[in-house]
Amino acid sequence: MHFYNTTENTNNQDEHALKDVTKSGKERPWREKKIDNVSYAELLQILKFQKAGNVGACGRVLEFKPTDEGYLKLFKTWFCKSKLCPVCNWRRSMKNSYQAQRVVEEVIKEKPKARWLFLTLTARNAVDGHDLKSSLSELTKAFNKLKMYAKVKKNLIGFMRSTEVTVNQETGAYNQHMHILLCVENKYFRGIDNYISHEDWTVLWQKALKINYRPIVKVQAIKPNKKGDSDIQSAIKETSKYSVKSADYLTEDDERNLEIVSDLEHGLFRKRMISYGGLLKEKHKLLNLDDADDGNLIQTSDEEEPSDNEEEANSIIAIWNYSRQNYYLKLER
Ligand SMILES: [Zn+2]
Repeated sequence: MHFYNTTENTNNQDEHALKDVTKSGKERPWREKKIDNVSYAELLQILKFQKAGNVGACGRVLEFKPTDEGYLKLFKTWFCKSKLCPVCNWRRSMKNSYQAQRVVEEVIKEKPKARWLFLTLTARNAVDGHDLKSSLSELTKAFNKLKMYAKVKKNLIGFMRSTEVTVNQETGAYNQHMHILLCVENKYFRGIDNYISHEDWTVLWQKALKINYRPIVKVQAIKPNKKGDSDIQSAIKETSKYSVKSADYLTEDDERNLEIVSDLEHGLFRKRMISYGGLLKEKHKLLNLDDADDGNLIQTSDEEEPSDNEEEANSIIAIWNYSRQNYYLKLER
């Protein structure tokens, strides 16, 4: 089933499939992401979403410039920026994790003694798109309250917050939750006036959400000055990852997939998935990083900064071939 008839002149493409490899030798997953993007666009088409065509065109033509070392650097393409798009979400998560690294580094420079916590805040599962939409609004409102509670506020330096929705494939329910990387004053760990136990966090979160059940809360202190800083790195990664996994709506069951996409489109509509607060927000602004949700998805890190003679360098163009399900390089004339 193909909704997108390619008008590409196939004679213009030679047999070379795109191979975009990083400096560490890993192949960038353009093909896998685009295959999922096409399936997603097909679901939108069946559901009669107007944006289906745009989503299908996401990353269809990729223009790269070769770097001096012979790698490819993405130079131009068009991204649909849909919240569920597998191509866009892959780019977003690279960008978010790069931005978060830079921000965290700057905060550590200014506040070397600060401590870091990784907090996961959940609410009861949502049953459909409508329920999901209101629950996500509640989560955001509740978090804004939580951070203002005296005991939280007194030691809070800043945070990075991201929202994730997962689908329980057995029950069909949506699990919406927030991952928060919190930066707190060193004295947070000193005395009961400062320290907030797991029990306290749970009570505070329940109060903020105004609910009559005990919500699931996870709190993990990140060990300071650990060699390699692996804990903070994994917390950054967890906070920067995709808000929705394509595997959740591209299952074997087409009927279910349609229902899930419809619910998620409705639930995530106009929702901000990533945000910064406090000193992390200030640093994000000072570093002049663009919007984590909707910024430029071509340049996702420093590594990809354009070079001076870039405009003149020959472009390498790869075009998605719908029937062969891969990107092929366009021949230079
Ligand atoms: Zn896209």
